[in-house]
Amino acid sequence: MLPQQVSASAWFVQGQSALGSPANRNFISNAGFVVTPAGVVVIDALGSPSLAQQLLQRIRRVTPQPVKYVVLTHYHADHVYGLQAFRAAGAKIVAHRAAREYLNSDTARLRLEASRQDLAPWIDANTHLVEPDEWLDGPRDLQLGGTTLKLLPVGPSHTPEDLVVYLPSEKVLFAGDIVFRNRIPFVGQADSRRWIRALDQVLALDADVIVPGHGPASHEAKADAALTRDYLLYLRQVMGTAAKNLEPWEDAYKAADWSRFDKLPLFQAANRMNAYNTYLLMEQEKD
Ligand SMILES: [Zn+2]
Repeated sequence: MLPQQVSASAWFVQGQSALGSPANRNFISNAGFVVTPAGVVVIDALGSPSLAQQLLQRIRRVTPQPVKYVVLTHYHADHVYGLQAFRAAGAKIVAHRAAREYLNSDTARLRLEASRQDLAPWIDANTHLVEPDEWLDGPRDLQLGGTTLKLLPVGPSHTPEDLVVYLPSEKVLFAGDIVFRNRIPFVGQADSRRWIRALDQVLALDADVIVPGHGPASHEAKADAALTRDYLLYLRQVMGTAAKNLEPWEDAYKAADWSRFDKLPLFQAANRMNAYNTYLLMEQEKD
C-alpha cells in the first residue's frame, strides 16, 4: 500500500482490480486523503480494519497531522469496513443521510456476517458497521486548515447516498464509484438513468484529476467518465430493447456485442449480473 500523490495536498492508495478475498485483505477499493495544516481528511475507509490501520501509518509518513475527518462516498462494504480504526484514531465520520436505510438493514447485517466467513481473519467478530458522526442532507463545504473541500451529493445513482468530494483549489475530484476506471463497474441495484445524470454533474466540475473508487487515478477525466457512461448507456440500450420486445434475457445477452468492453478487468465477474439487473430495471421502467 503506497500512497500516490496526485496534487500538492491530495493523495490516494489504490486497491486491486479484483473481488475481495483473504489473500488481498479486501483491498479492492481506493481511499484518498487531503493534507492540510490543521489535519487530514480521508475519503473512504477501505475494506477491513487492518487496511485502515495501515493507511493511518502511511499517512503518518506523509504528515504528522492527525486524521480529523473521514468522508464516505457511499456505504458499500469494501469502502467502510475500515471505519472503526479511524474512529479509534479520533476522526469524525461524515456520510450522506440516504445511507441510513442500508446501514440499519438486514442486507448490511447479513453481508457483514457473510464477510466474517469469506474474509476471515481480516473481517471477524470484532468488525462492526459504524454510524457516521454527521449525516449530510445536502452539499457542504468542509473547511480545515484553510482548505475547502466540497462534499456534493450525486445520488441516488450507484447507491442512494453517493457523494463526491472535490478539492477546487487543486481541481482534484474523489468520485467514489460514480466513475470506474480500467474495469467494468459493479451496477448492482443502481438506477442507471440517474447514474448517467450523476456522470454529467461530475463532468461539469471540470476536474483535472479524478481519483475513482477503484482503479488508477485519471488525468483524462472526461474520457473515463465517458467510458462508464457509455457502458451504462449500452446496457440500457441492449437490455431496454430486449425488455420492450419481451425477448428472453439469456437470448438478448448472447446476441449482444460486448466487444467494446469484454477486455476490461472484471468483465467476466460483473457483466452478466449487470446486464441481468439492467434487464429487470428496464422491464420496470417501461411500465
Ligand atoms: Zn466500490
